[in-house]
Amino acid sequence: MTNELDILVLDGDGIGPEITRATLDVLEAASSRYCLPLRFTMEAVGLPAFEREGSTLPERIVAQAQAADGILLAPVDTASYPPREEGGVNPSGTLRRKLDLFANIRPARTRPGVPPPCGKPFDCVIFRENTEGFYADRNMAVGSGEFMPTPDLALSVRKISRDGCLRIARVAFAHAATRPAQHVTAVHKANVLKLGDGLFLASCREVAAQYPQIRYDEVIVDAMAALLIRDPGAFDTIVTTNMFGDILSDQASELSGSLGLAASLNAGDAHAMAQAQHGSAPDIAGRGIANPASLIGSAAMLLDWLGARHAIPALRRAATAIEKAIDDAVVAPGTRTRDMGGEAGTDAFARAVIAGLEQVDPSGAPAPAISACSRPRT
Ligand code: ATP
Repeated sequence: MTNELDILVLDGDGIGPEITRATLDVLEAASSRYCLPLRFTMEAVGLPAFEREGSTLPERIVAQAQAADGILLAPVDTASYPPREEGGVNPSGTLRRKLDLFANIRPARTRPGVPPPCGKPFDCVIFRENTEGFYADRNMAVGSGEFMPTPDLALSVRKISRDGCLRIARVAFAHAATRPAQHVTAVHKANVLKLGDGLFLASCREVAAQYPQIRYDEVIVDAMAALLIRDPGAFDTIVTTNMFGDILSDQASELSGSLGLAASLNAGDAHAMAQAQHGSAPDIAGRGIANPASLIGSAAMLLDWLGARHAIPALRRAATAIEKAIDDAVVAPGTRTRDMGGEAGTDAFARAVIAGLEQVDPSGAPAPAISACSRPRT
């Protein structure tokens, strides 16, 4: 009997609790159909945790996350948090840093039968460096990466390290090697940020040299914003620094159909955290209309990562089946959510995904997904 894997579920703010419930329903259905060794523990982070415990990310939850086998984090509304000194800690940034989740893996693809807003089919995955860059809450050992020498002058420090660049480049190329296109594009602004993005490009070139079979090219980030709209199918695996990856991945997801489809995984060598790409969508919170596909798809990525890490094929098969069930649910207008022009609510979408799971043969072979980024546990 395989030992159970502990999944810590943090249900967040805004639409977080609604899409978390829908995602847990799908995970529980997949667990029972695929006999998955998963045990779920729910905890509150964000504003509910602040009201109860005086912090949006109580220390005990950080410890729980460190001990868990995987984490599912719902969107958090950091814009509404009090200052850090008063308990407003960004759960997403803090967990990414404390668990060293250096790779934010953000796939974006058009779905069969769903006309994409961009008019062109594409299938790409963005590897965004997740622990340094311009992010003031995580790029300093002590203090903040933003500071004000005078009330009228603000400085924001951007951290780029060779090790940080090499490790994101390595997982991006390892992943690209599993995909048919065998193509990596590094996105940068080395024409202006000659040192920081120069170091990033030098690191990408060093890793590219180890993969002679992979076509490697480099595109400046502003041109990339235009090219993604003009011809998204020209790209396959994209590797970039933290903030460029954040922006381009929202763009790519919206081009694929909706930000509500945007799944992602934060992965490191020892931990992984599923997290939708989007925010807490306060404008639609509490109405039961949010698209849960993003968090359900993120959970599927986590299952795939766990399946590769623990050598449990059923987890990887379940991940593939959930992905297929999402594809099928977004095709039919009756089960599509409003952000995609349909009429279904959050729960109805989850039910459609669960019904789709029932159609898939649970003994089917898994397709390679993000397993190249998951190291077997030693
Ligand atoms: P943050 O700063 O945390 O990213 P935000 O308010 O800037 O938050 P989002 O919360 O990502 O951005 O919302 C952007 C838009 O996309 C909003 O109109 C929101 O309603 C919509 N949106 C985001 N997620 C979903 C979803 N899962 N389903 C439907 N609409 C969504």
